[in-house]
Amino acid sequence: MHYLLKITENPRLQEDINNTRTKISQLLIQSSDNIKSVNFSSISNNDLRLLFDLYDLLFFDNWFKDNYKGQILFSLSKRMSRSAGLTICPRNISKIKQENVIIEIRIGINLIFNYHSTERMKTVSGITTSSSLEALELVFEHEICHLIEFLLYKKSSCKNKRFKNIAHNLFGHTDSYHKLPTNTKIAVEQLGFKLGDEVSFNYKGKEKRGILYNIRKRAIIFVMDKNGVYSDKNGMRYTKYYVPLKSLKESEE
Ligand SMILES: [Zn+2]
Repeated sequence: MHYLLKITENPRLQEDINNTRTKISQLLIQSSDNIKSVNFSSISNNDLRLLFDLYDLLFFDNWFKDNYKGQILFSLSKRMSRSAGLTICPRNISKIKQENVIIEIRIGINLIFNYHSTERMKTVSGITTSSSLEALELVFEHEICHLIEFLLYKKSSCKNKRFKNIAHNLFGHTDSYHKLPTNTKIAVEQLGFKLGDEVSFNYKGKEKRGILYNIRKRAIIFVMDKNGVYSDKNGMRYTKYYVPLKSLKESEE
């Protein structure tokens, strides 16, 4: 593991990082069956593997290919509404032989596909992005840092200084968060709603009116209902509805 330790302790030149990131996106476009431009609308698990192999080749001298004996799985999720990526590592990694370790890198694809849904600046890990592929690369780099931290230290948290140093030295990241368009932001920008607004929607042919409580994949709306199972501190009762964003309307009155 000396190689990983060494490479995470010495900062790479920012210019070198930027050039390599651009090179990787070009090579991915050349070899992928789905990703044909920097703004893409289809992707498979295999593209994530290709992306990893390119990062391995150009950032890590094929260290993973030649030395790492564990397994890395790649998956895409349509259910992640806030995080753009997730690295899943067995809790007892310190007790498992490397060849039996399985770590999964999961990418939340909605955030990437919604890239152009808002006009605002889309920084990922502190770096301004200009395409959905660049956003994917930055999210992926963040997850690679989790992977490396797990392998080196058996634990990983992007809130901590150690992670931030790794991410900064390897990829020039200056932050652990993304500003990609979440459904909440899209709703706010495109539909003009904010949480707490009164909204209406059609439910089985009837117009319902309630309070926009939260937005995940769908909007969560509480509608006053004397038989509802939810109640507020004033004893008012409510029923909770999950409503597709496009069905929301501004409540009249
Ligand atoms: Zn993280």
